[in-house]
Amino acid sequence: MARTLPSATGFLAAVQQDGGQVPQPAFASLGSRTEEREERHGHTLHTRLLHAGAPEAARACGPGAAVVFAGELYNQAELRSLLPRGTDPAGDAQLVLALFDTYDLHAFRLLNGRFAALVHGEGRIVLATDHVGSVPLYLTAALGRVLAATEAKALRTAPMGLPLPAARPIRRLPGVHQVPAGTVLEVVLGTGTCTAHRTWAPPHSRRITAEDEAVAAVRRALEHAVRVRLGPEAPLVVLSGGIDSASVAALADRAAGPIDTISMGTDDADEFSQARIVTEHLGTTHRELIIPTADLLRRLPHTVWAAESLDPDIIEYLLPLTALYLRLDGTGRRILTGYGADIPLGGMHREDRLPALDTALAHDMETFDGLNEMSPVLSGIGGHWSTHPYWDRDVLDLLVSLEAGMKHRYGQDKWVLRAAMGDVLPQETVLRPKLGVHEGSGTTSSFSRLLTDAGVPDGRVHHAKRLVVQELFDQVVVAGRHPDEVATDDAVQLVVDRLERHAQPIP
Ligand code: AMP
Ligand code: MG
Repeated sequence: MARTLPSATGFLAAVQQDGGQVPQPAFASLGSRTEEREERHGHTLHTRLLHAGAPEAARACGPGAAVVFAGELYNQAELRSLLPRGTDPAGDAQLVLALFDTYDLHAFRLLNGRFAALVHGEGRIVLATDHVGSVPLYLTAALGRVLAATEAKALRTAPMGLPLPAARPIRRLPGVHQVPAGTVLEVVLGTGTCTAHRTWAPPHSRRITAEDEAVAAVRRALEHAVRVRLGPEAPLVVLSGGIDSASVAALADRAAGPIDTISMGTDDADEFSQARIVTEHLGTTHRELIIPTADLLRRLPHTVWAAESLDPDIIEYLLPLTALYLRLDGTGRRILTGYGADIPLGGMHREDRLPALDTALAHDMETFDGLNEMSPVLSGIGGHWSTHPYWDRDVLDLLVSLEAGMKHRYGQDKWVLRAAMGDVLPQETVLRPKLGVHEGSGTTSSFSRLLTDAGVPDGRVHHAKRLVVQELFDQVVVAGRHPDEVATDDAVQLVVDRLERHAQPIP
C-alpha cells in the first residue's frame, strides 16, 4: 500500500563532468527539499529532491547505476516477483534499480505507475516517465552534461542545451525538452546523442468481447486501480457526482471506507445536488466548497504555473480543481480523481454513429501528450498528491481497446462503465449524462465573460484565451515570476490592448 504521499514528488537532477553550478529551482510543488551530491563514473550527480519526509526511498545507488525517482508504482508485487529470491528492495527507487540491473532500460516497459525517473549509468543517462507521461519530465542536454527536472521552470536558467530531435521541444523555453509519454530517453554523455525508446503506446486494435465479460473486466481493473492508489489514511475523492468520480468514490469506499469527498462550485454554478446523491448513498464525510468566480479567475496564473501548458482549453478544465486544491486545509492529502475517463470511453461523444467515437478516441490518444492534464503539480501546489485511476496502465489499455459498441450502447455514453457500477451507485448517478468540470463550475462562461467585458468581440474570445494563457506562461514559467504576483486582469488587459492595436488599420 502506498504512503500518504510518495517519497518524492519532484526533482531536479544534474549530471555533469566538472561538478559545475546547478540552478536553484523554484518549484511550484510544495515539499521539503534535500540536496545530495555524489561522484559516479567521472561525473557528478547532483540531486535536489522535493519530498514529504522520506527522501531516502526516492534515491537508490548500486555499483552500476543510481536512480532518482519521483512518484509511485502500482504494480510492485508483480515487479518484485521478477527479482531473484532474497532481493527485497526497500522502496520504489530501489525496485527500479534492481529491475534496471536485470533489464536495463527495458525495465521501464514493465512499470505501471505515476512517476518520473532518472538513471545514471556508466557514461549515460536514462530518463523515463510512466506510460502516459503523467508526471512531466524535462531536460536540457549538452556534451557531458544533462539536467532534468519535473518542472520546466526549474530549467529556465540552465545553460543552453543542444537540440534533441528525440524529445519534444518546449515552446517559449529554448533548449528545454520534454520526455515524450511512454518513452525512455537515453543520453550518451560523451557525445550528447539522445535516443528514444518507446515503452508504451495506446492500443490501435479493438477487442471483441461479450457484454458481461467487458463489464466484469472493467469493474475488476478499476477496482484494482483504485485499491493500489489508496494510502494508510482515508483518501479524499474529488467528486462531481458524475459517473466517473462517483465510481472511484464507490470503489474507494468499499476498499477503505469511510472516505472523504469534496465538491467545488462557484457563485455561478455547481453540481452539489448531484454529488450529494452519491455521498448520501455511500455515507462519505463530505464537504461543499464554494469558490467565488472572481477568486477562481484569480487562480489562472497558478494553474498555468502548475500545468506549464499553453493550451487554453486544458487550462480551463484544470482551473476549477487547481483552485480547489489550493483551498484544501491541512497538508499532504492523497486525492483520487475521476479524471480522464472520457478519453478512452469516448464520453464526449453524444451521437449514435460509432465511427466518430473511434475517430475522436484515436485522435485524443495521439494528442494528449505534452498537455500535462494529469500533472501532479496541480495538487502539488497545495501540498497534496493526486492520482487518476482511469489512466492506470491496465485500466487505460482495457478501456481504449474495447470495441466502440461497448462504449456507446443502448443510447448511453460510457455504457460499459455505467453497467459495471450499477450495483454500487444510485440509478440516478449511473444514468447521469456527462458534464465537464469547466461547465459544471461555470468556468468556461466566466472566463469568456471576463474577456467580453474587457472588450473582446465574441468571435475572438477563444483566440484571446489562448493569448492570455500564453502571456501568463511567459510570466510564471519563462520569466519565473510567482503567480501570487501576477494578476489575471493585467494579462487580460495586455491581450486586449494587443488585439486592439492589431485591429487598427496601419496609417
Ligand atoms: P470532468 O471534467 O467532469 O470529467 O472532471 C474531471 C474530474 O474532476 C472528475 O472525475 C472529478 O474527479 C473532478 N471534478 C469534476 N467536477 C468537480 C467538482 N465540481 N468538484 C470536485 N471535483 C470535481
Ligand atoms: Mg463532470
